[in-house]
Amino acid sequence: MPLSSAPTSNTGTQAIRSPATPGVHDWTCPFCPLLCDDITTIVHDDGTLSAPDTNCPRLTNALTWFTETPASTPSIDDTDTDLDSALTRAIEILQGTKRPLFGGLATDVAGVRALYPLAADCGAILDHLHGDSMAASNAALQDRGAFLTTLSEVRARADLLIMFRSTPSAKYPRFYERVLGGSNQPRNLIFVGCDADPAAGNLENANSHCILKDADPFDLLAIWSALMEGRGAASFSDTNMSQALAALVERVSAARYTAVIYEPAALPEPHAALLIEALNRIVKAINRTTRAGTLALGGDDGALTVNQAVTWLSGFPLRTRVSMLTRLPGEPPLDHDALRYATKRLLETREVDALLWVSAYQPEPLPQALADDIPLIVLGHPAMRNLIGKRSAPTVFIPVATPGINHGGHVFRIDGSVVASLTATRASGLPTVAFIAERLHKALATSANAGSRP
Ligand code: SF4
Repeated sequence: MPLSSAPTSNTGTQAIRSPATPGVHDWTCPFCPLLCDDITTIVHDDGTLSAPDTNCPRLTNALTWFTETPASTPSIDDTDTDLDSALTRAIEILQGTKRPLFGGLATDVAGVRALYPLAADCGAILDHLHGDSMAASNAALQDRGAFLTTLSEVRARADLLIMFRSTPSAKYPRFYERVLGGSNQPRNLIFVGCDADPAAGNLENANSHCILKDADPFDLLAIWSALMEGRGAASFSDTNMSQALAALVERVSAARYTAVIYEPAALPEPHAALLIEALNRIVKAINRTTRAGTLALGGDDGALTVNQAVTWLSGFPLRTRVSMLTRLPGEPPLDHDALRYATKRLLETREVDALLWVSAYQPEPLPQALADDIPLIVLGHPAMRNLIGKRSAPTVFIPVATPGINHGGHVFRIDGSVVASLTATRASGLPTVAFIAERLHKALATSANAGSRP
């Protein structure tokens, strides 16, 4: 569907069915970016949720966060309050900042679209919970580009799947169902630089094995790349590695379509971007003679969605500071810096003077680097309240609805090529992130027009 039609204003409180009514069919799971859309949910009389026909431990675990009707009380400085009072205090915090950080950002398209103008009014920096791995992927893409593939293309074309330092089912339990399900096409799966994924051993029509599981990833990719460019295996001193990789090059040459799959978050920091760039270079070399593409497994908790939306709204990906009406002297209206604007660094160096933390899917812990005396606004899953506690700085907590559980919405799938529509399975009465962000934005704009802004 066109993104322009994605909803940006609703309270997320529409009732889908009474709590005693079982079953939302073909429900799309929002708890990982595979976005499986074949699930039937059951809403039990006591408000708990289950998906008994779906074998996914990650989904089962996520649903335990929705065990009953959630507490819906906002708080100021750990004391219960009403929504209007919480919003008023949050506006005071935002009015008092010169450079806040909007972090976490675990939300949907409507949430980030509503947060963006609020950030622009505050001169806020935007980063995500998974900003480190998103920054590595963004940097590699910006520097040299990439041949990307999709779940559908892997299913339809790939006869060779190379998993680089990745065992997909550990984090994405239904990965093989999603990319290979419904097809009898024979596949070869080669795990490079890691153990073979145990889940791959149960696949029909697929052979799997691993090579060089303990190899240094940088050496491995350097030699693989050189072999792709025509160097002979005999020219390398590490004969075990070069021979194994020479055999891999032959397998790639013989394949019709190779999918190279990796997880940015599983690559060693701080130079994950260099590894991704090397993979992209290898895939480009393969495409001179046959077909290949990369598939990055990541973008969890709305990271991919927020990265896409911030990019189309500002022209820059995450870790961008957006414009404000009353800017700090000498600063440009838009500024992207993947290293400087990392959440951990900003909080450790105290370059930000407030944090607005968004965690709508699950209660994500606040950053460890957050000092007790930095003002905090949390738009979060109701259970976030227990993670905040008493602080010395002004602190506002507003519980929000979860996309795909309490309200509909839109999120990007793991391959970035599909925007999936989420359907609510249980109403909660909680406001959406978009609703709260719009309220804050309007109130801030009104007070600025009235000249009350410092
Ligand atoms: S694999 Fe991911 S999207 Fe699919 S059911 Fe499990 S958690 Fe949900």
